[in-house]
Amino acid sequence: MATGKINVSVDNIFPLIKKFLYSDHEIFLRELISNATDATLKLKHITSIGEAKIEYGDPMIEVKADKEGKKLHIIDQGIGMTEDEVKKYINEVAFSGAEEFLDKYKDAEKDAGIIGHFGLGFYSSFMVAEKVEIISKSYKDEPAVHWSCDGTPKFSIKKGKKTDRGTEIILHIADDEQEFLEDHRISELLGKYNKFMPIPIKFGTKTETLPKPEGAKEEDPAPTQEVDNIINNPNPAWTKQPTDLKDEDYKNFYRELYPMQFEEPLFNIHLNVDYPFNLTGILYFPKLSNDLNIQKDRIQLFQNQVFVTDNVEGIVPEFLTMLRGVIDSPDIPLNVSRSYLQADGAVKKIASYITRKVADKLNSIFKNSREEFEAKWNDIKIVIEYGMLSEEKFFEKADKFALYPTVDGKFYTFEELQENLKENQTDKDDKLVVLYASDKESQHSYIEAAKAKGYEVLLMDSPIIAHLMQKLETSKENLSFARVDADHLDNLIKKDDTQISKLSDEEKEQLKTNLEEVITDKSYTIQMEAMDSNASPFMITEPEFMRRMKEMQQTGGGGGMFGMGGMPEMYNLVVNTNHQLVGEILSTKTAKKRERLINQSLDLARLSKGLLKGEELTNFIKRSYEMVK
Ligand code: ADP
Repeated sequence: MATGKINVSVDNIFPLIKKFLYSDHEIFLRELISNATDATLKLKHITSIGEAKIEYGDPMIEVKADKEGKKLHIIDQGIGMTEDEVKKYINEVAFSGAEEFLDKYKDAEKDAGIIGHFGLGFYSSFMVAEKVEIISKSYKDEPAVHWSCDGTPKFSIKKGKKTDRGTEIILHIADDEQEFLEDHRISELLGKYNKFMPIPIKFGTKTETLPKPEGAKEEDPAPTQEVDNIINNPNPAWTKQPTDLKDEDYKNFYRELYPMQFEEPLFNIHLNVDYPFNLTGILYFPKLSNDLNIQKDRIQLFQNQVFVTDNVEGIVPEFLTMLRGVIDSPDIPLNVSRSYLQADGAVKKIASYITRKVADKLNSIFKNSREEFEAKWNDIKIVIEYGMLSEEKFFEKADKFALYPTVDGKFYTFEELQENLKENQTDKDDKLVVLYASDKESQHSYIEAAKAKGYEVLLMDSPIIAHLMQKLETSKENLSFARVDADHLDNLIKKDDTQISKLSDEEKEQLKTNLEEVITDKSYTIQMEAMDSNASPFMITEPEFMRRMKEMQQTGGGGGMFGMGGMPEMYNLVVNTNHQLVGEILSTKTAKKRERLINQSLDLARLSKGLLKGEELTNFIKRSYEMVK
């Protein structure tokens, strides 16, 4: 037996490792299984090129917990190490790697935290173990080696007894880390980090039910057998070629990724590039609700089939973080902070590649199966609209397939929409006006009024639509959006040049005075219009600009006008001077009765705009009952 001292600049690196990665002790298992996987893949490689005269066989990696002995074993059947190799790779390479890692980590930590704590490797075992042993037998014809180290730079090395090829790492788990000997904790870690690693990983055994033998009786129990419990799927769908996968395979993989998710994905996008960077993966469009916040962090980042993180911020463009699925790339630097990551050229290329692939996929569905695209529009629009707002490149592509549904269930692209606007559909600045409703129910009467004039009304109800309209108005010339109850639509929808006012100018003045005496609320501007006598006597409209500002304040993001707060309420009360009721108000002589008619009419108009609430609504209903009884 020989002993030695590892040559490092700090006297004792282990307390440092423990301290820096305090919250992430669990990654030791991922690191050790990664090493075991690498060792096995190396063996596969050298046997495949005929360098070693040995059988590759069916190697697996085994994780074994020995609770009584307080030991955790990680055993592989890979390439193994000779004594010289242990000295070189463990005492020198691994150690200097650990030192280098800590150096970088200290800087990155100040920034924003590094992504996956990758690269610490073998020495991360000292985060949970007070002593580590390596027993290894190389594929070369040399005796096994037994290395051990108790967490100081001192180590011992001797001949080992191992006769079969591969490496066994034995961790003597420290007293305050005993959780890592618990089955459920180990299973949890294996499920999190190793679910798709390329070499089968065994953890314990399980009972398998076998088919009953021929001629067995009904009441005979089915025979069972103990088999290896393999915790991973070494060949996940994203590592295969898109041409080898059917729709069902993609759906099955989705269920494998999200076993608790019962809703099927809407469609998937297979990512597969090897130049100028390496990236594979499958993204899914899930059914999304209108809630923007709860659905992030569902894309999982892998590196060579090892799970890294489910926070892909900085790697995937923000609007796509609402998608699900996996991406796997060895080209994403992980020992860096997120702010560094965003400036990294390779990562920028990856982000724009993903954006392009998503846009292309959407475009091809739109082109090849428009009906399907329309049917799914409601569930995908939030991602597309968000993307159009935040990524100019995506906007350019999506402009061709983004849909604008009408209240009657038709879907237009922007180009089609423009073709369907009426020639006279202009506002006072001669801009084409696109009419829309945000709620079919509460804006019903306004929608009907617009449709009666032959206008198409869009149904635009997603939470960020106000931002998107702003964007469209600035990028498309001579076009503006107006909600059906917007005030500047009076000349488009309500006013009718063929109508002659039944009231004289003096009568109108009188009426206005009467109304102003009763309606003291300064949020209302009274406006007289001669309309069809069948149209509503009173109608409340709202300035488009003000309303949209208010909406944008609520949803945030995008326009850069936030923190303005406290927008005043502003409405127009449009009075139809040709309506019988309006004539009646004018001819009523008793002030009391007139006041009652005006208040009741205003409340009805507010009710139809959804403005009547709480105590006012209660009073209104009480008053109405009084009147009808
Ligand atoms: P890295 O894996 O990043 O190179 P590590 O510190 O994890 O760094 O390991 C250092 C070296 O030790 C590896 O490069 C490898 O040569 C060797 N090694 C570690 N674990 C094993 C193993 N299970 N089988 C064979 N060699 C191993």
